[in-house]
Amino acid sequence: MDNLDFSSITPLLSIPKRVLLTSHTNPDGDAIGACLAMFHFLHICGHDVKVMVPNHFPGFLSWMKGQDEILIYKDEKEKCDLLFVNAELIFSLDYNSPTRLGDAEEAFNRATGIKILIDHHIQPAMQYYDQVYSTIETSSTSELIFDFIIQNKKDTLNRTIAECIYAGIMTDTGSFSYSCNHEKTFRIVAELYKTGIDGVMINRLVYSTFSEKRLRLLGYALSEKLKVIYQYSTAYISLTKEELARFDFRVGDTEGLVNYALAIKGMKFAALFVEKDNKVRISLRSAGDFSVNNFARNHFEGGGHKNAAGGDSYISLEKTLEKFEDLLSGYQDELRN
Ligand code: 5GP
Ligand code: MN
Repeated sequence: MDNLDFSSITPLLSIPKRVLLTSHTNPDGDAIGACLAMFHFLHICGHDVKVMVPNHFPGFLSWMKGQDEILIYKDEKEKCDLLFVNAELIFSLDYNSPTRLGDAEEAFNRATGIKILIDHHIQPAMQYYDQVYSTIETSSTSELIFDFIIQNKKDTLNRTIAECIYAGIMTDTGSFSYSCNHEKTFRIVAELYKTGIDGVMINRLVYSTFSEKRLRLLGYALSEKLKVIYQYSTAYISLTKEELARFDFRVGDTEGLVNYALAIKGMKFAALFVEKDNKVRISLRSAGDFSVNNFARNHFEGGGHKNAAGGDSYISLEKTLEKFEDLLSGYQDELRN
């Protein structure tokens, strides 16, 4: 697997610039990890750096240094709009199209700064960017940020940056259990450890800081709301707004839940349906060759990776589940064991 060559970005950073780092709606560990690693790096290099994400990120990422500097478009629209107008360089990290910016999409499209994409999703929307650095042969965007830093100013890699990159790699690989069949990922992790990071502590901060209600929601979802369709090697969980309220839902509380559905022996396809105010949010996972990216794109206005994707449905939860089950027979050749 060849490294991406980031040398075309280097001249753009030769003098201090106003830089805006952005990531996708419902930011995850890789989105926040990549943005903050880049934030710390560019700050060390003397740039005026801001980070903006469309909406809130989960509390289990709030231990990361610099997280309190992240601007949330939903909460500070005017301030963020101004940052888009004034930015000389705009980075899109961990997403492949401005459509993933939600309400911030318009401000991004209007902005006149140089736009650079660094990402690991398939089918990047090249036409919106001046420079595109995209590969699916990597664990995460955070891993690409490591390469970027090493290629630019190797000696700036410090513990703070390494913690952000580690968190991004760890969360996008489910603690090194998928998307990490690459020797290189582990070499990078070894380099991160050399800065003194505490991987055990980071794991605990991310995965073992549940509220009691969140843990009970997990138990309820698994015992009461898991449906297994053996005929199509598929399992899914659905949660209504009322159920979420009962467990005092907070952003991030359903993170990772979909993976449990894939843990049953023989399952190839797993889904999680979460009822929101105006839509149903869908998370899809697969094991093997079944492409949930295609499934999400074709049926639920979404996308992602081959084995992990998301989408939205604008019909009721009940109707969404019906639609989902009806679709499965069309994939019987791929899904049957
Ligand atoms: P999750 O299920 O964790 O929300 O998302 C899984 C993966 O799919 C992530 O890499 C995420 O960036 C991508 N993804 C989630 N939702 C969407 C969507 O609506 N559109 C696209 N293009 N990608 C998505
Ligand atoms: Mn990612």
